[in-house]
Amino acid sequence: MKTLDIINFLETVAPSSLQESYDNAGLIYGAPETECTGVLVCLDVTEAVIDEAIRMKFNLVIAHHPLVFKGLKKLNPDRGISQVLVKAIKNDISVYAIHTNLDNVITGVNNKIADKLGLADRKILVGKEGLLKKLVCYVPVAHLDPLQQALFTAGAGQIGQYSECSFAVKGEGTFKAGDGADPFVGAVGKRHMEEEMRLEVMFSSWQQKKVLAAMREAHPYEEIAFDIINLENLHNEVGSGLTGVLQEPLTPDTFFGLVKERFSAPVIRFSPLTGKKIQKIAVCGGAGSFLISNAIAAGVDLFLTADLKYHDFFEADGRIVLADMGHFESEQFTQDLLFDLLKQKFPNFAVLKTGVATNPVNYFL
Ligand SMILES: [Zn+2]
Repeated sequence: MKTLDIINFLETVAPSSLQESYDNAGLIYGAPETECTGVLVCLDVTEAVIDEAIRMKFNLVIAHHPLVFKGLKKLNPDRGISQVLVKAIKNDISVYAIHTNLDNVITGVNNKIADKLGLADRKILVGKEGLLKKLVCYVPVAHLDPLQQALFTAGAGQIGQYSECSFAVKGEGTFKAGDGADPFVGAVGKRHMEEEMRLEVMFSSWQQKKVLAAMREAHPYEEIAFDIINLENLHNEVGSGLTGVLQEPLTPDTFFGLVKERFSAPVIRFSPLTGKKIQKIAVCGGAGSFLISNAIAAGVDLFLTADLKYHDFFEADGRIVLADMGHFESEQFTQDLLFDLLKQKFPNFAVLKTGVATNPVNYFL
């Protein structure tokens, strides 16, 4: 199996086009065509992780956090990030990151946190605009079914929990085939009128290539009349943060105890309590302060995240409880998520979670 096969699979899990503009997710070092000897999954790529990959004779490291995040102007083989990178390069170890794109899908980082807390009724906290498109395609009546089927198979027609969503209406299409054309119906040089269906179907922007290829494959015409329309609708399954509901309302003490236990979090920092029990919550793995106002607007009792600064806690303002469980603690199970996905897809391939504890933060209690 090639490195590319694994990357292509991860692209179906969380397309790299869904990463934030400041991010650097994707293949950071390596040749996609390389034969892959094994995958080591981690949250952070440290030198110890690369050493582990060398020991295991694995040549692909998949991390949540990109090893190279900001621009690197010089490579110093003895220090910091470049030391890790140089070691990976010298040992032909590819390094891939699946970062904010995995944060942004409903099945990603935050879903794993929600699993650990047993949250029901999960929804994206802030959906993303500009990711939905509509395909309008005109097809002879008898070819509607196979075209619809092909588009659905390519992933179009998904709205929330509903699949195979489309709309079709009958009408009359006209065309006149010119010299050199080979019309499916009608004759060259004569205007033809055909009973056609106007088929409308929605798809996610990253599926466009696949959806159009499916359309071309299933459509009988050599020239297909179709429109691609950008929609302003929010994507329900892509965006930042996630809201959900605990099985039962808990006192803050009980909730914090639950978080400490499930996430092995030594410390939870939190803003003044509101006097309410905790049931509806928002979660965001890693640095989530950019979502405080959205969490308040969503009407949740508590927002569980990490990397909150002193002044962030003031923003709670009696309307919500803000809680910080630590960056590593919040995202540690992303390793399990990636491991499980890879193992499910490639059951007989060598995939391991790192045995290295990469959390750079220590606690003196
Ligand atoms: Zn993170």
